[in-house]
Amino acid sequence: MSRRRRKHKKRFACGHRGFGQYCHRCAARQARNRAQLARKERQRVEWQATFADDAIDLRGLPRHIALKTRQVLTELSEGTHYWEVSGKRLHMIREVVRIPITRRYRLLCHHDGTTVKPLKVMSHEEYNPLFRNPKRLLAKLFSRDRSKR
Ligand SMILES: [Zn+2]
Repeated sequence: MSRRRRKHKKRFACGHRGFGQYCHRCAARQARNRAQLARKERQRVEWQATFADDAIDLRGLPRHIALKTRQVLTELSEGTHYWEVSGKRLHMIREVVRIPITRRYRLLCHHDGTTVKPLKVMSHEEYNPLFRNPKRLLAKLFSRDRSKR
């Protein structure tokens, strides 16, 4: 630190002191930031790719909701009955089954009498206003998602 021992130490524009043409502390931090951004972007791309295999479109849902929904979808596809995953038919629309994912989210399915076909995951906020209006709920459930291929 003393000027005698390190005669050529200088102050860079960033305020750090050091040797050489540029501030190595700032350069190292920038490299770390770039690496972190690249890692996040890679994770984002990997996460996006996982949606391709889902039976219904789960894009845009919070991560843990998407993951919990996948567990339920897997169970249903393996033959688990909807009531075994706490599913209930709607009173007003018997052909619709709702399965709780969390306290806030429901997986809504179509029950055609023999099989249960997953349709959509909805939050209370989306779902409650439609709940008393079977026509609107059905229209929403059977609407095609823009993002669905
Ligand atoms: Zn610096």
